[in-house]
Amino acid sequence: MSERTILVWFRNDLRIRDNEILLEALKKADKVLPVYCFDPRSFTETSFGTKKTGNFRAKFLIESVRELKNSLTQLGGNLMVAQGNPEDVLPRIAEQYKVQEVYHHREVASDETEISALVEAGLWKRQINLKHFIGHTLYHKEDLPFPIKDIPDAFATFRKKIERESEVRGCFEAPVQITIPENFEEGAIPSLADLGLDEPLSDERAIAEFKGGETVGLERIKEYFWEKDQVNRYKSSKTSLIAASFSSKLSAWLSMGCISTRQVYWEIKRYEKQNPTTNSGARLAIEFLWRDYFRFMYKKYGGKLSKNQAETNMPFTGEKKILFEKWKSAETGIPLIDACMRELNLTGFISNRARQILAGYLVNSLHLNWTWGAAYFEEKLIDYSPASNWGNWAIVGGIAVGGKENPNQDVLKQAPELDTQGEYVRKWVPELSAVPPKQIHQPWLLTLQQQKEIGLTSSIYTQSAVRARSGV
Ligand code: FAD
Repeated sequence: MSERTILVWFRNDLRIRDNEILLEALKKADKVLPVYCFDPRSFTETSFGTKKTGNFRAKFLIESVRELKNSLTQLGGNLMVAQGNPEDVLPRIAEQYKVQEVYHHREVASDETEISALVEAGLWKRQINLKHFIGHTLYHKEDLPFPIKDIPDAFATFRKKIERESEVRGCFEAPVQITIPENFEEGAIPSLADLGLDEPLSDERAIAEFKGGETVGLERIKEYFWEKDQVNRYKSSKTSLIAASFSSKLSAWLSMGCISTRQVYWEIKRYEKQNPTTNSGARLAIEFLWRDYFRFMYKKYGGKLSKNQAETNMPFTGEKKILFEKWKSAETGIPLIDACMRELNLTGFISNRARQILAGYLVNSLHLNWTWGAAYFEEKLIDYSPASNWGNWAIVGGIAVGGKENPNQDVLKQAPELDTQGEYVRKWVPELSAVPPKQIHQPWLLTLQQQKEIGLTSSIYTQSAVRARSGV
């Protein structure tokens, strides 16, 4: 009988543990051909002048691919790194290595599913099958208590039914050995410069250090649950800006699939067994349901959630465009908004609360199109994931079918509640560090004399024109 080879197409599942496609390919084939393809379309610009991938995430991606390659090499295998459109590259490689089948994890966002469809068609012309696996959600689609088309739109109902009627599956074991085809051409991992990006600068104020790859992701789980026991303080700090250090910071590794939500879920269960009085783990588990919810909603409603919708209904020109540029460059003149944006721009990560504040301000105060903001987050977030980003933005934009309330709150009212002493603003907008706590969120309330004393006279935070334009 002839030798059987399966190509494993890695996408947002850059790990060897709890990875069904890799394990299944090893079971079914004599040789496994692991491939990652850098798609040049992921590094182009959108019509709003934002990049599809910014340098923080691109760096994280390169690190994650590099580590996957090392892990596969340690198992006797390797990772082939290709560059080009997957629909051109993968069928060609599959043919060259006489592959019988290609395995991949199914995605939900329109760009990604369109690419899978093109790859599938290209393979099919060569009579090679693309096999789809479900592997990104905590709950497997087949274990849901409802078909996708009947998934409740309201998150509360979705959650209640799933928690009552579904179970999370166990993790897949790690592979022990991989045999790759002869004449394996490994290809080179591109540098940031090859992708047209600069090296991001590090900022000592960053709330966490994000380095891509499965090992660091697993280390972060260990540190969060066991070494620092931060999960125990998760519930009490959930909505905080400053105490955001108690959220897991696992999102970047989860979005790129360096770790799986199932792995974290079973860690929560282990933690709860050893700490039966805490309920912070349960609170954290709800967040994974939000993640699943957005993915399943994407599956249910397809592209309607997102992109093209608003490209048409608000021209990206004139005053609106200027306001958008000021929002992006942290020059709105509202200290809390500028602080959140500076943190995002300088580190690639902000807390959930900061994301809500920035999104709410763009939609409710600047009256801009929410998809512009979502596109900017797509560029900047190190943990960008299409369903989570566009789903959360759709809620703020007011077009989501169910879920959280639109955080339509006046930022000036909210600011002293969230950042009582102005610590967060001072950290990211140090030119305001001499402003007393009482005026830190509205420095324009200082008298001219007070402004002079602390050197604020030429600052954008004193200009009434900025305030007027920002709609506050
Ligand atoms: P934790 O609070 O520790 O939560 C654990 C995990 O649950 C997270 O890592 C994440 O995978 C998931 N999660 C938590 N909250 C949400 C949520 N609201 N929606 C979906 N999943 C959630 N998250 C992303 O992973 N990628 C995005 O592109 C993204 N864009 C967002 C855009 C906006 C406008 C908003 C309001 C939220 C967005 N989120 C996104 C959700 C959330 O802000 C981040 O997942 C979270 O802040 C990451 O920090 P953490 O890992 O410490 O989260």
